[in-house]
This record gives sequence, C-alpha cells and structure tokens, in this order.
Amino acid sequence: MTTRADCEALDASDPLAMIRDLFTLPDGVIYLDGNSLGALPKHVPERMREVVEEQWGVDRIRSWNVHRWIDLPYRVGDRIGALIGAEPGSVVAADTTSINVYKAVDAARRLRPDRRAIVTDTSNFPTDVYVMRGIADASGLELKLVDPSAVLESINETVAVVALTEVDYRTGRRHDMAAITAAAHDAGAVVVWDLAHSVGAFPVGVADAGADFAVGCGYKYLNGGPGAPAFIYVAPRHQSSFRNPITGWFGHAAPFEFSLEFVPAEGIARARVGTPHVLGLVALDAALDVFDGLGLDVVRAKSLALTDLFMDLVEEWAGDIEVATPKEHERRGSQVSLRHDHAFPMVQALIARGVVGDFRIPDIARFGFAPLYVRYVDVWDAAVAIREVVASGEWRDPRFAARSTVT
Ligand SMILES: *Cc1c(COP(=O)(O)O)cnc(C)c1O
Repeated sequence: MTTRADCEALDASDPLAMIRDLFTLPDGVIYLDGNSLGALPKHVPERMREVVEEQWGVDRIRSWNVHRWIDLPYRVGDRIGALIGAEPGSVVAADTTSINVYKAVDAARRLRPDRRAIVTDTSNFPTDVYVMRGIADASGLELKLVDPSAVLESINETVAVVALTEVDYRTGRRHDMAAITAAAHDAGAVVVWDLAHSVGAFPVGVADAGADFAVGCGYKYLNGGPGAPAFIYVAPRHQSSFRNPITGWFGHAAPFEFSLEFVPAEGIARARVGTPHVLGLVALDAALDVFDGLGLDVVRAKSLALTDLFMDLVEEWAGDIEVATPKEHERRGSQVSLRHDHAFPMVQALIARGVVGDFRIPDIARFGFAPLYVRYVDVWDAAVAIREVVASGEWRDPRFAARSTVT
C-alpha cells in the first residue's frame, strides 16, 4: 500500500520536479484546476513588463516590425504545433476557441457541399455545440447530437463533418482520435478536433491521426493566462481550399495594400481574422518556454501515475464517491472527476482547505492534474482532504452552498 513517504520518494525521483519550480504556486495550496486556468510561470510577468514598458512604451508602433509582434501568431502557433504533432506552418495562435470552432467547422462543411449533417456528441463543451448549432441553422445542415459511445455508428455518407472534443471536460473520458478520424474519412467526412483538454497534457498527433482541422485553448494546460489566445490547425492538404467564414484583413493575401476586394492569403494565414492580441501572445509565448526540451511522453507517464494514484486513494478512502473517469489509460486525459450528490459544497469545503478543484453541473467534482507542477504528495494530501470532508460532513456548512458567477 502506498504511503505519504512513498509519495515523497516519487517526487524526489520525478524527472519533472524542476519544472514545478518554474511556476508561481503559493504554499498551502494544492492547485488541481490547471485544466481550467493553468498556473503562472514565474518568468511571464518580467516578459510582459519588458514588452509593455520597453516595446509598447518606448518603440510604440515601430514594435510591430522591430520587435516582430507581427510574427507572434505564427511563432506561437508553431510552438503549439510541436506539442500536437502538427506540420510546421499549419497552426496559428489567434482568437478564442469558440471563434476557431466556428472557422474550422464552417470551413469543413464547405468541403462537403453535397452532404447534410454535422455530427457531434452530447458530452461536447457547450460553446462548441452552440457554435455548431449556429452553423447548422445558417447552412441548413442537420446537427446530430449523439451519445459519445455512438459516434462511430452515427458516421455515414450523409455526414459532412464530425466535430468532437477529444477529452470530455466533465468526465475526462478521451475519444480515440485516430480511430474516429479513420472511420470518418472512410465515410468521406471531414473531422475537426477540439484539443482544449489535450494540448500540453499529453502527446497529441494530429498529423499522424490524419485530422483535418483542430482547435484548442491557450489558458488551460498551456498556462498562457486568463483569456490567452487560442489556436487553429489546418492540415496542409486543406490550406488552399480552406474558406474562412470570417474574412478579415489579417486573412488577406496583402493586408497592407488595403484593397477592397478580399483575396485570401496562402497557407495558415488564411485562418486569421484581425489584429493579433500582442500582450496575450507574449504571455503565451513566454509560458510555452516551460515545455522546451520536455518529452510529452514523460509528461503523460507522470499524469497517468498521478491520476491512477488519486483514483486508487479515493476509492479506498471514500467508498461512496463514484469515480466518473474511465480507468483505462488510453480512455482518459489528465483529470479525474468524482460524482457526488453534493459535489458543489464538497468542492467549496475542499477549496476552504486549500485543495482547489472545481464543480461542473450537475454532480461532478473535477480535479485536474497538470503534470508539470502537481506533485505526488499533492495527490496524497488532496485525497486525505476529500476523505476528511466526506467523513466529517463539513460540506454541510451553509457557507459552502453559495454559488459565484464562475464555478
Ligand atoms: C475551455 C473550452 C472552450 C473555451 O472556449 P473559449 O472560446 O475560450 O471560451 C471551448 N471548448 C472546449 C472543449 C473547452 O474545454
């Protein structure tokens, strides 16, 4: 049986232990919400200060050229591309995930003009579903919302697009990207993957899987900060036919010619819309430094070890809590979700003890294990806290019942 001393020993021999030191993490807090807002890498504020004071403050508009602000979307895009197994020049960092879902799914359905359906699943993140509902309404396509276990059987030759999130934000269940992509291609459909809960947490291979398009977030496991720019991947074979539904000037072949006729740029530039979010890109670019030289296989191995341990301890100590996340390694991401009738006050009671997870309706307590900075002792201490909160019934305290705007 594992002990806390074993956890300390695992931390001492953890090849990622030095990476944790790169982050600002207050003492006394176990941060298990890096899947929602990644922690702050220590060097980001100084990089931001330089850009604000020395570039914006001193060089002002010249900075677009002198400090190459103009290249940030591609530079950051390629760095993210390396983390998702994308070809160089096939990812751009821009806009939000919601906007990128719109661009990718709308462009995807135009590649199959004779087909009439978009398939997604009922576990997808609501913004993705809302955006696809808008596309379906505007284009006259049918949006098929199927159970996550029924995705494969719902793909047929009437389907234009299959658009899924790889890791379920609620349960942490992971789809088989390669198998679904292959089945969709066999049926002649185009596939869009949302990697919001994948990128930075484990190796992803969009090119190997043959994905057509992908999108994802900059502020979760990439630690780019609140509201960080998102990204979009367009497979090289689709770049010349990609039709961005938002035809803004930064997707134009020559934005500074100021022509009134829209001519799409070649390559991934076509997936852009407007002026880059320079400050957000600078923070994200700096945050990505922590991944330099890191093998994502090592990151994945630690993530699985942390989540295995957490599930084991919770099952042993808090028997009436159901683990909602699949046990099989290949079927999950880097979070563990627990199902409990009183998940909301339970999470609040844990936060009061310094164990920060979050709640997702109706009954999910969600714990993200960002392998770059979560330790084995954190897993142990979090599981102890859960055991105590459940055993003592301290979640019944009325102060844990109040809900804020953001849960
Ligand atoms: C977090 C998340 C989003 C967030 O989209 P924003 O446009 O950044 O608000 C979208 N999709 C999925 C699957 C997510 O997990």
